[in-house]
Amino acid sequence: MSIKSAEIICVGTELLMGQTLNTNSRFLARELASLGIPSYRQIVVGDNYDRLYEQIKESAGRSDLVILTGGLGPTTDDITMGVAADVAGKELVFDEESFNNITEYFRRLFRNMPKNNRKQAMLPEGATILKNNNGTAPGAMFEYSCPTTEDPDRVVHFVLLPGPPSEMSLMFTNEARPILEKMSDSKFITKFVHLFGIGESAAAERISDLIDAQTNPTIAPYASEGECMFRVTQRVDNGEEEKDLITPILDVMKERFGQCIYEIGDRPLKQVAYDLLLEKNKTVCFAESCTAGMVSSEFVDIPGASQVFMGSVVSYGNKVKTNLLGVSDDVLENLGAVSRECAQEMAEGARKLLGTDIAVSITGIAGPTGESAAKPVGLVYLAIADEKGTDVIEVHLSGNRSRVRHVAVLHAFNLIRMRLS
Ligand code: AMP
Ligand code: MG
Repeated sequence: MSIKSAEIICVGTELLMGQTLNTNSRFLARELASLGIPSYRQIVVGDNYDRLYEQIKESAGRSDLVILTGGLGPTTDDITMGVAADVAGKELVFDEESFNNITEYFRRLFRNMPKNNRKQAMLPEGATILKNNNGTAPGAMFEYSCPTTEDPDRVVHFVLLPGPPSEMSLMFTNEARPILEKMSDSKFITKFVHLFGIGESAAAERISDLIDAQTNPTIAPYASEGECMFRVTQRVDNGEEEKDLITPILDVMKERFGQCIYEIGDRPLKQVAYDLLLEKNKTVCFAESCTAGMVSSEFVDIPGASQVFMGSVVSYGNKVKTNLLGVSDDVLENLGAVSRECAQEMAEGARKLLGTDIAVSITGIAGPTGESAAKPVGLVYLAIADEKGTDVIEVHLSGNRSRVRHVAVLHAFNLIRMRLS
C-alpha cells in the first residue's frame, strides 16, 4: 500500500522550552520528501502522557504515517514507546535480542548497565524492531488499525525513533527507510559514499552547493564514530524514464573528497583494507599498545581473515615493547612509549618478528588518565612498515577512552588502505 500523508511528532520538553533546536524534524522532512511521501505537519509535544496520547491519536486520525522521535530513553520521563503502544492497543513485551544489544553496548564502553535500561527492551508486541547502532534505545515500527466509515480497513503506520540526532538519522536510514521505500509508488536508487579523515560538518560544507541544490537525487550526510557518510538517492517515479542522475553527483564528490572516500557501496573500512591485502597478495600483522588487540579482533570479524592476517603482538607494557618488538630503551626513556619513534620501532619489530609483508602499530593515550602537557589524551601514533619503509602518523582523537580506542582502530585500517591503493 502507498502512504498518502505523513506527520512528524518530536517529543521532549527541552524542545518546547527552546533548549534544544529541533533538527530531527528537518532531517525527517527531507527524508520524507525524497521518498515522495507528502509530509503535512510537524508537531512538538513535551514529555507528558496525556498530551502525547491525545496528539498521537489525533495525528493517526488523519495521517497514514506518524513518525515520532524522542522519549525512548531509560528514564521515567521517556514515555513515547508506552504511549504509542497504548494508542495502538498493544502490550509492551520484553525483546531479548534488543536487551542483548543494549547489554553489548555497555560492555563495549566498559560500563555497567543501569537497571532502568532494561526498560528500553520493552517493545510493542508484533513490532518491527529498528536496531540502534549508535546508542542504546531500539526503535520500533508497528501498525495501528484505525478504521473509518469510508475505509474500514484503514491502517496507520507508527515509526518510533530515538531523540539524539546521530542515533535517529542512522536508524532511519538503515532500518526504517528501506521499509518505507517498499511502500512507495516510486523506485529508489541509492548509493552510500563513505569517508574517512574528514568530519561531517567539514564534509557537508565542501559540497554545500550540491546539498543546497538537491531535489533529485537527494544528498544527506550522516556521522558515526570517527567517520561520515553521504546517502545519494535518486527517485524514479512509476512510468518515468530511468536516467542515471547519480553518477554525475558521485563524480563531483570524488573530485572534491579525493582519497577521503574509501568506499562507494556498503563495505566497512576494515573490509576495504582486507580486500586490498588479498588483491595485492600481502600479509599483515599488528603491534597494539593502546588498542590492546582491538584491531586484530575487529579484523578477524571478516570471514577469511586468515588469508592475510598472521597474528599480532599486544605490547601494552614497555617490557613487551622492548623484549618482543625490540623497541630501544633509549626511545622509551627519552621519548616515551607514546612517540613517533616508538610507533616506528614497534611496527618494524613486529614485521620482523612475525614475518609479514606489512605491519601496523598503534600507541597512544586513551585516557582519562596518563596525559601530560606535551601528550594529551587522544594523542595516538600509528606506523605502517613494509618493504618500502615505514611511515608514521600522529592523530589527535576526541572523546572518551572507548571512542579514542575505537577511532584508533579505524586509523589502523585506513593506513593499510592508503598504502595499498
Ligand atoms: P530522548 O530520546 O528523549 O532521551 O532524547 C535525548 C536527546 O536527544 C535530547 O536531550 C536532545 O538533546 C536530543 N533530541 C531529542 N529530540 C530532538 C530533536 N527533535 N531535535 C534535535 N535533538 C533532539
Ligand atoms: Mg527526552
